[in-house]
Amino acid sequence: MTQPVRDRIAGIPAALQEQSALNAVIADISPAALDGLEAAPEGALSQLLLGIKDNLNLAGSAATCASRTLQGYISTYTATAVQQLLDAGGHLVVKTNMDEFAMGSSSEYSCFGPVHNPHDADLVPGGSSGGSAVVVATGLVDAALGSDTGGSVRQPAAFCGIYGLKPTYGRVSRYGLVAFASSFDQIGVFARSTGTTASVYQAIAGHDARDSTSAPEPVRPFEFDGQRARSLRVGILPPAELAGLDPEILERYRELIAFMEGEGLPVQEISLPHAGHGIAAYYILTTAEASSNLARFDGIRYGRRLQTADSDLESVYTDSRSSGFGPEVQRRIMLGTYVLSAGYMDKYYGRAQRVRRSIQGDFTAAFSEVDILLTPTTPTFPFAIGSQVDNPLAMYLSDLFTVPMSLAGIPAMSIPVGQGRNGLPIGLQLCATTFGEESIFQMSQLIENQFQT
Ligand code: GLN
Repeated sequence: MTQPVRDRIAGIPAALQEQSALNAVIADISPAALDGLEAAPEGALSQLLLGIKDNLNLAGSAATCASRTLQGYISTYTATAVQQLLDAGGHLVVKTNMDEFAMGSSSEYSCFGPVHNPHDADLVPGGSSGGSAVVVATGLVDAALGSDTGGSVRQPAAFCGIYGLKPTYGRVSRYGLVAFASSFDQIGVFARSTGTTASVYQAIAGHDARDSTSAPEPVRPFEFDGQRARSLRVGILPPAELAGLDPEILERYRELIAFMEGEGLPVQEISLPHAGHGIAAYYILTTAEASSNLARFDGIRYGRRLQTADSDLESVYTDSRSSGFGPEVQRRIMLGTYVLSAGYMDKYYGRAQRVRRSIQGDFTAAFSEVDILLTPTTPTFPFAIGSQVDNPLAMYLSDLFTVPMSLAGIPAMSIPVGQGRNGLPIGLQLCATTFGEESIFQMSQLIENQFQT
């Protein structure tokens, strides 16, 4: 049984060479996986090769967050979720490229250069966990971890044609995940099937005393039950809340609804009246949290230090931070500092908090009527590399359908539902109430059984 795994791990350097143009990987850690193979425990993930996003700590390996400020940093400890993968017998072979500090929707804001979409190398793979999505989509690994603050697992999963789950906030420990916006961040899973996504999710879910926001909810094994799947009540968005959606994605959305109705599932329209304010609230709250979380990278406590003979303390801070962070991270730190500044705090931050509560209320109302909400994952197909880097607002809009669930802290998963123009993948999103991951997996498997050829 272990022979094929050994061969596959041994083949990683050559396979990476072959796909080096996609730039999905920051570090090849397969030699350590090969060395540790004999000692690896037998577990649910023993047959799986895995990748992890480079904002997850693994003791003894670099963790750059694709930022110059962390180049040369070696993790002194291992993130809980990463340790759980190892404990379940998984083999970690690569650390993956990403948007710097997980801020972005295209994996272009990396100090290592942009990641490319495997379906068309001129296009972005989505972000910020683009590298993790790509290594799963190409088959280099079986599954990968990413982090999802506002869509960073779901959106690249849609752009690359694979499954991408953002669990309920608090479901997976954030210990050892470099923080972006702590009240949103969740570690998520990429895989090429519902079953593998569920297995990896089960390995990493659960309470962790080292993350005070992690939940003590029990984790139940997932077994597909067609009857249970067909008993789920489904909510869909009314046409007015789908404005701006690419017509081909809309068409696939309608086809999936027709499939569900054909399976006898009760389907009804569900409005999310406040979701339209999601993007604005998200970019106020997350930048506020980021400005605080990233204050530690000052060249003194953390991060690369820039110091000349005549540097005073102030210039060590400014020089280290200006050269260590890329433009998008700097933009967010400035925005976040501004929205928290005296006199503006209530105008921006306070109002955004109220919007967050309203959106949570929308979902509470929705899940009193349905078990699953089906929405698009992204408003568009993957866009061309370079086409949106100078237009941050346009880039932010690609999170239109993913940020409401992040504001509410509920689980959501992008599932591949075939291809559209030029063979590009289409993803749709399933979401459920807090800790309702199992319903998502049931529905996902029902759809997978139908659509997988
Ligand atoms: N694209 C979103 C952003 O730029 C989401 C990022 C994420 O989920 N980490 O903030």
